[in-house]
Amino acid sequence: MHEGAVLLNIKTRFQRELIYTYIGSILVSVNPYRMYNIYGTDMVLLYKGHALGENPPNKLNALTNSLFIIPKVLFCFFYLLFSGESGSGKTEATKLVLRYLAAIQHTSNIAQQVCTSPLMESFGNAKTVRNDNSSRFGKYIEPINYNFSGVISGAITSQYLLEKSRIVFQAKDERNYHIFYEMLAGLPSQQKRAFYLQDAETYYYLNQVQLHQICTLGQDYRRLVAAMEILHFAAEDQASIFRVLASILHLGNIFFQRHEVCIWFVILFDVVSLISAQEIRVVDAVAKILYSLLFHWLTEKINSQVYPHQHTLSISILDIYGFEVSDLTFNSFEQLCINYANEYLQFFFNRIIFREEQEEYSREQVLWQDIPFSDNQPCIDLVAAKPHGILRILDDQSCFPQATDHTFLQKCHYHHVHNPLYIKPKMPTPEFGIKHYAGRVTYQVHKFLDKNYDQVRQDVLDLFIQSKNKQVSAVPPGAGGEDGEVTKHFMVILWYVSYLFLSFLLFRCNPFFVRCIKPNNLKVDELVSHQLRHSGILETIRIRREGYPIRMQFDVFLFRYYSYINVLFISLFFSITTQEERRCLVKCICHIIFSKQSFPTLVLSLPRALIVGISYS
Ligand code: ATP
Ligand code: MG
Repeated sequence: MHEGAVLLNIKTRFQRELIYTYIGSILVSVNPYRMYNIYGTDMVLLYKGHALGENPPNKLNALTNSLFIIPKVLFCFFYLLFSGESGSGKTEATKLVLRYLAAIQHTSNIAQQVCTSPLMESFGNAKTVRNDNSSRFGKYIEPINYNFSGVISGAITSQYLLEKSRIVFQAKDERNYHIFYEMLAGLPSQQKRAFYLQDAETYYYLNQVQLHQICTLGQDYRRLVAAMEILHFAAEDQASIFRVLASILHLGNIFFQRHEVCIWFVILFDVVSLISAQEIRVVDAVAKILYSLLFHWLTEKINSQVYPHQHTLSISILDIYGFEVSDLTFNSFEQLCINYANEYLQFFFNRIIFREEQEEYSREQVLWQDIPFSDNQPCIDLVAAKPHGILRILDDQSCFPQATDHTFLQKCHYHHVHNPLYIKPKMPTPEFGIKHYAGRVTYQVHKFLDKNYDQVRQDVLDLFIQSKNKQVSAVPPGAGGEDGEVTKHFMVILWYVSYLFLSFLLFRCNPFFVRCIKPNNLKVDELVSHQLRHSGILETIRIRREGYPIRMQFDVFLFRYYSYINVLFISLFFSITTQEERRCLVKCICHIIFSKQSFPTLVLSLPRALIVGISYS
């Protein structure tokens, strides 16, 4: 077993349009960049009710379906985790899983959840250099509930850490969130006039880089409105959403059309007191908080429509922004945060697949030789450990008024120059590098300190609270500081809190991993083998091959193999069992004593086993 063989397997399957491959219960998915006809209703029916491995892994359905069967038996929580680089297909896979669940369940709630995808994507996705529809927030869908008949009763979506800087700034060849372009392209002219809106080129927040037409935006607008209608958004709510979006665009132009913008802002925004240009001088921060309040409101609104009423058993789905590794583009604070999140997910993968599996073998006293794997704990420590992890240094520096991006960089160099995962540039350039699990990335420190906090003045927040617009009036507590004071709103702390929360959830559950792979038409092999190597897929295959790919709960095992176990009992009587078999028997007996469930099964099967046992002996 070596890298070439695995690569050839995946490549041959890919060329035969087989984009999904199992490694034990882990699914490897290679992005085909075109839709295959494998997701139709006929295929759904083929997979419905069959366990993992009974059907070929030519789609995600088999995996989802096996998760779907297991909880009915085991009464526990399941998590489906998608990982892979940006553009590798995580979000598409999430949608396919939801669509599959909706198709087999015929439940309106899940169907609604699927319909919310375009809405969440319009607000939370944007074109980046890596992906035309890149998720700029983490999405965590839970729980897709079951009651005991196996029917899903609903789902709830949480969103994490929207990339707010995109509202006011976009890198070369990237765009702002889709929603702005969709709104401007599709809104009827009467409404456009009512919101004082013009074409996209007019707005500073949209025209800093050359505009790129990436899809049929008019059609997207119709899809967006249809999704809002399915979710029963009142006409008034729809108008308010566009009003907030229009306000954000107007804010961006404040330096060019100061007077007009202030008046527009007052009219559109329904604020009671008149705002002067001085009061909204922290324009970018206001625009960012406005957008994040709107996004927060939207998620809550969607959840209120599809909220589950029964909490019994669940499958949860996590789809975050993918690893952004490319030295051809500008990597900044946002990329460091995104890559840290992915590094953390990889750490979780390693922990489950390698560490816990090997620990289980030693717990079960199975003969086992440890398989080495590349542990990425040192990289997690480099980025976030107390007291000198890079993000910790950033937080410390943010508290000093004299600190600059330069002083931050010097501190990083000072503490980490000898760390093999840290790269100090040879020339005195304002950057540092990190060797992540998925490859090395160079980060430019320009504006790191600025981006680490959003300055939001309390008197500006008060204006939102006074607003009649409910999309923005619900300012979360703690968003502002004392009167007139500038509040430092550390993004990094938010990251920690969210990820602590996530890790709390994740470590208590049964995760299933889908590893998404991004092919490259020009250099398929090189790019894919890089991802295979760095995502630990080779080590995964090795541990699955050398280890025990099938796990059964004792109950299920006893139920299925009761005859054999009875045979062992009888063999024991004739003293012809091996030591291993005797050990197995002791385990079974212990289990039978503690679990009343298995006992009747065993007793009932005894006569049959006696016949088999005697002939065996
Ligand atoms: P990011 O981390 O940037 O959010 P991602 O991993 O979520 O990236 P997707 O947006 O899911 O990536 O996929 C990128 C593009 O690849 C999609 O817009 C779609 O065109 C194509 N694609 C992905 N998966 C599939 C699939 N299973 N079948 C067909 N096309 C796909
Ligand atoms: Mg995505």
